[in-house]
Amino acid sequence: MPAHDVLIIGAGLAGQRAALAAAREGATVAIMSKVHPVRSHSNAAAGGINAALNPDDSWESHAFDTVKGSDYLGDQDAIEIMCREAPGEVLWLEHSGVTFHRSETGHLGTRAFGGASAARTYYVADITGQALLHVLYEQLMKHHEQIDRYEEWFVTSLVQDDDGECCGAVARNIRDGAMELFAAKAVIQASGGAGQCFKPTTNALICTGDGIAQSYRIGAPLMDMEMIQYHPTTLAGNGILITEGARGEGAHLYNAQGERFMEKYAPNKMELASRDVVSRSEQTEINEGRGFPDGTVALDITKVPRKRTLEALREIVNIGRDFAGVDITREPIHIRPGCHYIMGGVKTDVWGATEIPGLYAAGEVACVSVHGGNRLGANSLLDTLIFGRRSGEHAGRRALGMPMPSPAFSALADEQRMIDDVMRRRPGTGRRISQIKDELGETMNEKCAVFRDEAGLTEAHEVIQRLKEEAARAAIDDRGTVFNQDVLGAIELGYMLDTAECIVVAALERKESRGAQFRLDFPKRDDDEWLKHITLSRNGGPEPEVAYAPVTITKWEPQERTY
Ligand SMILES: Cc1cc2nc3c(=O)[nH]c(=O)nc-3n(C[C@H](O)[C@H](O)[C@H](O)COP(=O)(O)OP(=O)(O)OC[C@H]3O[C@@H](n4cnc5c(N)ncnc54)[C@H](O)[C@@H]3O)c2cc1C
Repeated sequence: MPAHDVLIIGAGLAGQRAALAAAREGATVAIMSKVHPVRSHSNAAAGGINAALNPDDSWESHAFDTVKGSDYLGDQDAIEIMCREAPGEVLWLEHSGVTFHRSETGHLGTRAFGGASAARTYYVADITGQALLHVLYEQLMKHHEQIDRYEEWFVTSLVQDDDGECCGAVARNIRDGAMELFAAKAVIQASGGAGQCFKPTTNALICTGDGIAQSYRIGAPLMDMEMIQYHPTTLAGNGILITEGARGEGAHLYNAQGERFMEKYAPNKMELASRDVVSRSEQTEINEGRGFPDGTVALDITKVPRKRTLEALREIVNIGRDFAGVDITREPIHIRPGCHYIMGGVKTDVWGATEIPGLYAAGEVACVSVHGGNRLGANSLLDTLIFGRRSGEHAGRRALGMPMPSPAFSALADEQRMIDDVMRRRPGTGRRISQIKDELGETMNEKCAVFRDEAGLTEAHEVIQRLKEEAARAAIDDRGTVFNQDVLGAIELGYMLDTAECIVVAALERKESRGAQFRLDFPKRDDDEWLKHITLSRNGGPEPEVAYAPVTITKWEPQERTY
């Protein structure tokens, strides 16, 4: 049985940063990913990463913007840590080799991002995630004596010992179908988000909520699951993102009547209000008949000088041309709000520790909670790195002080049996996995989007219950061992259904409007009743068990939120 001090599930930015930090503590590390690490979804991050590095800026200002952006649901102790440590992290990245944009004076260049009171987003054109991920991967390779890489391995479940401590995981080697039990003194979930529960989404096909569901299934509480971010600028048919960097560089939003409608909703910040505010404004324009017939409004990037667009936004020039047939340097492009990010996830403390001893979580899979009700653009890359590093450090230190556990081989047998059962399903015995997934995504996008109400959420909940039954019978075609994505798709569908159920149950529970959760039937924020986190736990029953956790307030008392 392979055994490592720290096992990291996921090799995006959170996982790679955690691996480097754990190795630095002296731990032996395994990092595992269902795709090649540089194909992790962090690769898609475009616009940049926030830090108050400029002498005119301050971490307090960054922290306040984050607290306000979260609609006061973010935990302020965690936000303080993230914003205090941000400048050092960006400099560490730069020293490690990230070629951040520089201004004409040679200083690191910034762009403005939504909800921020200073231009503090550091970037590499509009391929920031790719630039970061490749530099971190070089560092992983450099530390190969301490860090073993399991590339194209799919974790199917976490393993606990008799005392409930997490002591390893079961994984399938995607290349040949072999199943393996891994022992570890600490396991870090860094398996990313769950955007594929919605259709369309800006998220890659691999964002299926695996780590959220796996952790939930062994009893780790989830938190803030109702908070799903709809990004204001996505392409209508396919959900592809047009980075917020475009508005940061000066692009405007217009309705079909040519009105720059953000004047009505956020007169101070306009297009650079926080994402929940801009998305709601766009959806209101569309719902009230001032959008275009294809259910969109227009993003006019021609306001940005063409030379600057070609230099700093070149990826979305390609996206506009290839996926919408639009030259964004010459004409507006039609966009609408689209599912983008999950603020909730596995509840952790500020060291990434979950309530299951030995299990950590960092990055989009986790909820520290620094984003609360709404994440500010360019704060997610920061979250992955700061809390990835902190969880790696903590897990590494924990591991050094304990013997290697011996997880029971029955865990491996259980997972092998689960896979054999999926393999035995014959076509014709049920619906196709893709059909169930599509129905789930379309239902979530219709009932659990920018605007929600009890009737729609209840309907979504019922659909999910039915889809769970159908998923248990869903047929697969491929019975092979080599790159069998069919069988993995069946497992991922189960993760998505568990995750979606938790999102809907939490959205039904929160009877107020805050951040990304706007309830048409409870349109006001209600601090007296709802200034608290909703947590969900499995606790043996079929339905998530709802509980509450207090919001940590250090300096900033809740105020009315205007932009
Ligand atoms: C289009 C787009 C643009 C964005 N731009 C920005 C931006 O400019 N700034 C910003 O701050 N944020 C941005 N974000 C958000 C940000 O990119 C993500 O939140 C962040 O990169 C997530 O990183 P992560 O390390 O948590 O997960 P990921 O990068 O998604 O990595 C998850 C890892 O887990 C692995 N994995 C998952 N399940 C399993 C399993 N069962 N077994 C084994 N491995 C598994 C995957 O293979 C992968 O390696 C953007 C998001 C999108 C969608």
